Amino acid sequence: STSQEGRVVAVTGAAGGIGQAVCERLRRDGASVWAMDLRQPEGPNGVAVAVDVTDADSVEQGFAHVRQQEGRLDAVVAGAGIVEDDVAAESMSSAQFGAVLAVNLTGVFHTLTSAGRIMLEQGSGSCVAISSMSGNHTVNTPQRQCAYNASKAGVSALVRSLAAEWADRGVRVNAVAPGYIATELLARKTHQFEQWFAHTPQRRMGAPEDVAATVAFLLSDEAGYFCGSELLMDGGYTL
Ligand code: NAD
Repeated sequence: STSQEGRVVAVTGAAGGIGQAVCERLRRDGASVWAMDLRQPEGPNGVAVAVDVTDADSVEQGFAHVRQQEGRLDAVVAGAGIVEDDVAAESMSSAQFGAVLAVNLTGVFHTLTSAGRIMLEQGSGSCVAISSMSGNHTVNTPQRQCAYNASKAGVSALVRSLAAEWADRGVRVNAVAPGYIATELLARKTHQFEQWFAHTPQRRMGAPEDVAATVAFLLSDEAGYFCGSELLMDGGYTL
């Protein structure tokens, strides 16, 4: 089972498509979930802690709040992410590149290390970052998102590094690498959907719930021997 019964879990990017599905899934599996994001989503999945993952102090304060309320932290999901708006690499400014790296890579560093400090002190914990298939595969349709792709490759390496550093102190770190999932993140790329379907053996995009199920698995004790792994789930897109 992927039971999270009695666990305290924090999720960043919790107002997003994947983040909301992750929070719902983990609550259903029995966790006490602390939703962290910059913004409040519409609907019932309120964000409990306002956190800007680019700001180390903001993240540290968010996790201090959870610890103060709950006394511990059993799991964390680093899900906050952004994608640049179809900019050719040769036209991209340093600021545009840096803005994506600040959220997608430095933000994951802030999130996992703030959570990790609590977990290492406890001697237990499980971390999952949401990377992407685009970190490890050059996708075969027109894509102009070099900052995003570079940031996600960085997340893979960061996850492996933290997993190796923390494994003998009871803290596991892994990643889920989704292919195309229907969320707001891709709202400005809908003109590419037909091409993506055509290139995907399953002929569909993934659902946020598909990602949430994999996150729940990796966080659970069932995945106890996963250490620094990245689970690719893309409907066969990169085959
Ligand atoms: P989304 O845009 O629906 O959600 C992303 C969330 O991150 C938003 O709620 C946003 O407010 C939050 N966020 C952005 N900057 C932040 C910051 N500085 N601090 C705190 N929160 C911040 O996107 P999604 O599709 O749910 O994406 C979630 C994760 O999954 C991202 O890391 C994304 O790169 C990854 N991913 C998505 C897809 C996809 O196809 N949708 C594919 C692979 C990976």
